[in-house]
Amino acid sequence: MTEKKVALVTGASRGIGKACAIELAKAGYSIAVNYAGNQEAAENTVKEIQKLGVDAKAYQFDVSSKEACEEAVSKIIEDFGQIDALVNNAGITRDGLFVRMTNEAWEAVINTNLNSAFYVTNPVAKIMMKARKGAIVNMASIAGVYGNAGQTNYASAKAGLIGFTKALAKEMGSRGIRVNAVAPGFIQTDMTKDLKLDGITEHIPLRRLGNPEDIAKTVKFLIEDGTYITAQVIGVDGGLVV
Ligand code: NAP
Repeated sequence: MTEKKVALVTGASRGIGKACAIELAKAGYSIAVNYAGNQEAAENTVKEIQKLGVDAKAYQFDVSSKEACEEAVSKIIEDFGQIDALVNNAGITRDGLFVRMTNEAWEAVINTNLNSAFYVTNPVAKIMMKARKGAIVNMASIAGVYGNAGQTNYASAKAGLIGFTKALAKEMGSRGIRVNAVAPGFIQTDMTKDLKLDGITEHIPLRRLGNPEDIAKTVKFLIEDGTYITAQVIGVDGGLVV
């Protein structure tokens, strides 16, 4: 009998999170599919995963609410019994020039993209510590490494996520838990569909935008195969920033 493995992927109804959920399902993980409001899309992800012969269930919760995250993690443990891998992927953008940025746009992005990592990982880490194993991947961004005009809120959250990754990796390593981050470049999803990206591929050595599967393969590698890799930030951007 193959060993049971369970992964929680936040923001797995669409885009990068969905691709990560499917890639991990292909590697034999049962998947807890988190989403915010798009139930139909989340149920579609669940169906696609079930077709691969593993368990999946959708969990609606807002990753920017500590209470909701704690409740959801308890529910996932009731349903699946364990969490071996966590992908902190859910995220939003509220772009705008800094001098015009509202408190609301600042706080929404910090709460959803950074505080969420604390809210979700805190209860999950306790479970992984008891099991003395686990792998966590945080979805950062090249904006968190190099900055990006119009994204002070987003870049701050993603840079925070990178610091969180490194510090948590140092705390958790002795318990057999690895923590890494992925920093995607421009990936074709709903998040980027309205951006004016004309000409950007000329600046990308691989001469194309990324797709969610490019990220998902890296996430799966970090969780399954990168057994001596922790505290790292892996750029997956076609060579855009070096
Ligand atoms: P996307 O297509 O817009 O999907 C966002 C996902 O996050 C959806 O599943 C959404 O759920 C979920 N979500 C949003 N707010 C949430 C909340 N408060 N609670 C729970 N779930 C929530 O985005 P994406 O492009 O795949 O991005 C995924 C991650 O990669 C993000 O962290 C993003 O910052 C990062 N990233 C993306 C790019 C890029 O070029 N696309 C580049 C660098 C980094 P619903 O479907 O229910 O709304």
